[in-house]
Amino acid sequence: MRLVVATRNPHKLDELEQVLGDELARLSPLDDRHELPPETGETFAENALIKARAAHELTGEPSIADDSGIEAAALGGRPGVRSARYAGEGATDEQNLERLIRELEPLDDRRVAYVCVLAHVDERGEEHLFEGRCEGILAPEPRGSGGFGYDPAFVPDDTGIDDSRTMAELRPAEKHGISHRGRAARALARHLSRRAEARRR
Ligand code: IMP
Repeated sequence: MRLVVATRNPHKLDELEQVLGDELARLSPLDDRHELPPETGETFAENALIKARAAHELTGEPSIADDSGIEAAALGGRPGVRSARYAGEGATDEQNLERLIRELEPLDDRRVAYVCVLAHVDERGEEHLFEGRCEGILAPEPRGSGGFGYDPAFVPDDTGIDDSRTMAELRPAEKHGISHRGRAARALARHLSRRAEARRR
């Protein structure tokens, strides 16, 4: 089954491909000539749906899109849906991370969570949402060269109390095993395989 992915982010496509694999779905990125609508929603779910619906309308094919970001407990969930542009429109990953590190520096509560909502619009236009979360602590300095975005300062809880590696220091498979996107993608994969199973019966 072919699934159009409404993203321009090669890191996300790569991560989704590794979790969904070839058996369940062949992922194809949305063609460059198609414009994606602006992310005007106030929640991850709204933004994911805006993109998945647009891809479905443009291509007529089953489509998925994710919206994701990082929430800091001490900042009431900021930057949230504004994670990609936290230090301003067109800001780099480094600038966004620098701002978050600076804002959390004087605060005791360093808890952060990655959140990902995947929207799936199927061949009949039916909509389904899948959410994944990954809890962690923001390190005071960036470390490591893997991943992207806030990964160099995100120390996930799931690797255990004695492991202080950041997401950017984990192997890609380790990251996918615990990440918000990995979890949302596995929920989608379970949904797709249940549907395929039901069709075979
Ligand atoms: P969007 O989902 O394209 O709106 O972008 C989400 C933003 O959240 C990214 O640009 C990153 O700044 C951040 N983000 C989302 N997922 C991850 C991740 O797995 N690692 C690091 N940063 C992430």
